[in-house]
Amino acid sequence: MSVSLIAIVSGAQEFVPGEVIVKYKKNRSGAMSAASKAGGASKFTIKKSWDSMGIQHVQAKAGAGQPSTQQLIQQLKADPDVEFVEPNYILKKQSAGVDGPRLSRQGVKEQLSLGAPVSKVNSKVNAASVSAQSAPVYSQTSADIQVEDAWALLTSQTFVPVVAVIDTGLDYNHEVFVGTDAVWENTGETPNNGLDDDGNGYIDDVRGWNFVANNNNPMDDEDHGTHVSGIVLGISQDIFGTPQPAIVKIMPLKFLDSNGSGATSDAIEAIYYAIENGATVINASWGGGGYSQALQDAILEAYNSGVTFVAAAGNASNNNDSSPTYPANYSIPNVISIAATTSIDNLASFSNYGRQSVHIASPGVSILSTLPNESYANASGTSMATPIVAGIVALMQREAGEAINGYQASQILFNVNDEGVGNISGKVVTNSRVNVLKAVSYVQSNGASHYQPSYTDSSRSLASSESASGGCGLVRQVMKSQGAQGAGRSDLFGRALLLLIVLSPFVLAIALKQKRRDEENRRSHQRYNITSEVRISVGDKELVGSVSSISLGGVKIDTDALLEQGGIVEMNIMSPDGKEKVQVLGKVVWSQERKAYGVQFCDMAETQTNSISSWTKKLVKAS
Ligand code: CA
Repeated sequence: MSVSLIAIVSGAQEFVPGEVIVKYKKNRSGAMSAASKAGGASKFTIKKSWDSMGIQHVQAKAGAGQPSTQQLIQQLKADPDVEFVEPNYILKKQSAGVDGPRLSRQGVKEQLSLGAPVSKVNSKVNAASVSAQSAPVYSQTSADIQVEDAWALLTSQTFVPVVAVIDTGLDYNHEVFVGTDAVWENTGETPNNGLDDDGNGYIDDVRGWNFVANNNNPMDDEDHGTHVSGIVLGISQDIFGTPQPAIVKIMPLKFLDSNGSGATSDAIEAIYYAIENGATVINASWGGGGYSQALQDAILEAYNSGVTFVAAAGNASNNNDSSPTYPANYSIPNVISIAATTSIDNLASFSNYGRQSVHIASPGVSILSTLPNESYANASGTSMATPIVAGIVALMQREAGEAINGYQASQILFNVNDEGVGNISGKVVTNSRVNVLKAVSYVQSNGASHYQPSYTDSSRSLASSESASGGCGLVRQVMKSQGAQGAGRSDLFGRALLLLIVLSPFVLAIALKQKRRDEENRRSHQRYNITSEVRISVGDKELVGSVSSISLGGVKIDTDALLEQGGIVEMNIMSPDGKEKVQVLGKVVWSQERKAYGVQFCDMAETQTNSISSWTKKLVKAS
């Protein structure tokens, strides 16, 4: 029986192989890209450039000599003009699934009239059924977020907020979106003339864009984006009742594919599209991958443009304080991280939480909304909780008559809500669940300030100073102390700008991508005694650890270093006899199984896996 190496964290591909996102330093010399210098233009394709940001999405051409992602990163980081280079992480929808059958519109009415399993009766849907026991509740959720009470107070306004739903697309032919005319329209574009009339870089983009297929058709070929969009719209009107002219518009930007997965590079492009084409809110019901400086830069651009970014906290039942989920964990003050709660305001079993990093809760269990092909269904997830909040921000903007900036929108939500309901105290920063009536009433009474603090990414200078000399571009400074406070939020909540983890002693649990997926390989978890060393390169520093044991999936060492969650480190692991060295890149991650921080390999060649496997054959099993 061969000794095997078992992944302790998901072995699923977390980034697009052979692709990276590169940022160049300001004042870089010449037009030649680092890609060209490193390997020659024949080996690389620049798939997308954001010239104003100095960022490029680079792909290695297929064929003989194609570098691995790791090699690509190492080649590019050698260029002193490169500020950072990072993998093109895969992002995924944050839905926990559809809860019930696909319903027709008639089926929805029957379900609502029964009051089960979703909700109490919505008076607007079935007035005849309204009775004294029915508190005003929303037909999408029976959690009492007082949306109907808010509708009763809506004023006459002309400002129409636009929510960019960056997701799997939208069935824009669905009766709800047609009947309400809720789909954003690019009035600067003449349909189907083959021209980029408004000069925004996209031809015939009359209703958003499909960044997967790179065309003007953001039709939903999954379900997720249409469900999310219906929830957003449903905060400003009853989508199960008689359609009303939309007072909030949906800009469908498709970057998740038919499997609900998408590349960070496409998410970034969608964010810039949203910013440049008038979105006032961005809904991000997705997450995954590692820390991406490029994605954070895009969200920072949204912040500086006054756009609110509402993000799902994730569905892994994790504590995001210790196990960050991106983009929800980016600490820019326009990012609102959303946990999901049940109809009685308890944290949903699947929902991520975090008293320092997840801001507020919103209903996210069995939410009734639209699906493609004139359908409806209940679905659960922080994906569903997030668009409720995006919809609230849009409704607040509508009532304010202007695009309330992301800082102000978050401040209002954090201060005007239902605090202490259910069991959410201690689970989220505000100990609160959103309340539509309170948020809208506040804006109606007080308007919105235009103040927004400048946000300084204090991690940037550190990352920049390090990246030229070592690491793999994502490597961040080895910090001596806890990170700086966010300029924007520290006044109220004091949340850390950077989530830095004390790893002392810290466990380097090495997740080895399992190349051979036979049953024998999956069974073994034996730990072996080993005397060896691990050298970890972080920027221009090298940490040396002493290894005491190696499991089938990793090694343990001690160090006093502080490493940033999501950061990339380069490790040199010595064989027991000191004759062999395996060099790998890894991402600092939380291992739920080991209850410890570890390093997950970025990309591991089979020869490296085989090397470590061969070492363990010669070792004595630990007790
Ligand atoms: Ca255009």
